[in-house]
Amino acid sequence: MESKIKGFMDLVKQRNQYEPEFLQAVEEVAETVIPYIANQEIYSGKNILLRMVEPERVMMFRVPWVDDSGEIIVNRGYRIQMNSAIGPYKGGLRFHPTVNLSILKFLAFEQVFKNALTTLPMGGGKGGSDFDPKGKSDDEIMRFCHAFMSELSRHIGHNTDVPAGDIGVGGREIGFLFGMYKKLRNEFTGVLTGKGMSWGGSLIRPEATGYGTVYFAQNMLETKGDTLKGKTVAVSGSGNVAQYACEKATQLGAKVVTLSDSSGYIFDADGIDVDKLAYVMEIKNERRDRISEYVKKYPKAKFFRGERPWSVKCDVAMPCATQNEINGDEAQSLLSNGCFVVSEGANMPSTPDAAHAFQKARILYAPGKASNAGGVATSGLEMSQNSLRINWTRDEVDEKLKKIMSDIHDSCIKFGKQDDGYIDYVTGANIAGFVKVADAMLAQGVV
Ligand code: NDP
Repeated sequence: MESKIKGFMDLVKQRNQYEPEFLQAVEEVAETVIPYIANQEIYSGKNILLRMVEPERVMMFRVPWVDDSGEIIVNRGYRIQMNSAIGPYKGGLRFHPTVNLSILKFLAFEQVFKNALTTLPMGGGKGGSDFDPKGKSDDEIMRFCHAFMSELSRHIGHNTDVPAGDIGVGGREIGFLFGMYKKLRNEFTGVLTGKGMSWGGSLIRPEATGYGTVYFAQNMLETKGDTLKGKTVAVSGSGNVAQYACEKATQLGAKVVTLSDSSGYIFDADGIDVDKLAYVMEIKNERRDRISEYVKKYPKAKFFRGERPWSVKCDVAMPCATQNEINGDEAQSLLSNGCFVVSEGANMPSTPDAAHAFQKARILYAPGKASNAGGVATSGLEMSQNSLRINWTRDEVDEKLKKIMSDIHDSCIKFGKQDDGYIDYVTGANIAGFVKVADAMLAQGVV
């Protein structure tokens, strides 16, 4: 089996030599799915996984725009349309200076499996730009978003490809992007999700990824007859996903002691309660400042410049910032400090060494493609509401989100439960996602 996996990866490496994040995401899937395929006659000789690692389409485009000083800036825009076997492409847009083809292909590949897990009819895609929103004025953000959409609009549509937010793309950016799409196409459709409530958005969409990550942690704990109540939680990031993971974990009786951003992390032994979280939201969403501001208002808390929060003592870790933010040593440090639940809010936040350490220690470890699927699932619910031209209540959407997270958890058990009772959520999520997409691809023939 090892030689089969190696042979497959050699081929993928040859074709994608300079794409380390993409290769990392593919290898994790190959390690779990290839042994499964070997025992399934229907997939034999169909090269399904080889077809899945090749995007259906990749767009790369120039995004020229004018900054406040009158200078012309040129960024690069991308949209990866990875797989449409089970529905229109769906996946977020990331605006961050580190964005490149490798990162977006890894995200698009993960998205295919994640979207399949939600049970909603959504294919996988991802896009974005190397544009850095930090320090830009609202007018500059608007001009960039308009320029970006002036090209992207040719490639998307409510039945073709429906982008959403990701790092650096929140409600403000979705508004500017939607405005330009509507003007260019002269149609008001659900072409983006994460929209404002008065123009087609869904309640709970902003909260959904963070809430879903916490619901998934709760589902995992329930398999041990346990709950989040009284647990100490370390969260990384302080953006959209981290904020709502912190809110929901606190509502369920846990104590969140850390948040972070690219400058470092804060540790608050007393817990980040509702009032403190409101202040974090003011710092990050309104003032767009650094998380270190927190300790000015709450001096009992500490700020650790340039560090990540994985050396603190906690029961539960929720990495909600970015990819590869927990390395092997940090995973060991979490384990030796007693952490026994890891629910990933970010995409691929654990390096392969970290993921293997969690699996070897047989803790409750959920990969992002399962535990952070609540965001895209609620985007799917936003699409349904747009098509039906109705709005569900907050409670209705939250109930559907909980049900979807619990169904994803069940799928992971179905394909990931081992003979000794240990649930390998990585294997479970990869195989469950693969089966759904692969069956649709088989039915549709070689296209
Ligand atoms: P935001 O832009 O709202 O927040 C990102 C947070 O992560 C910020 O605190 C940011 O710090 C920090 N961060 C970003 N890059 C780095 C880095 N290289 N090193 C250290 N910290 C970093 O993004 P989201 O909360 O939306 O996304 C967070 C993660 O969740 C991403 O992995 C994303 O792909 C994933 N995700 C998001 C979904 C969504 O619905 N939004 C859905 C599913 C997954 P700073 O403020 O200093 O930049």
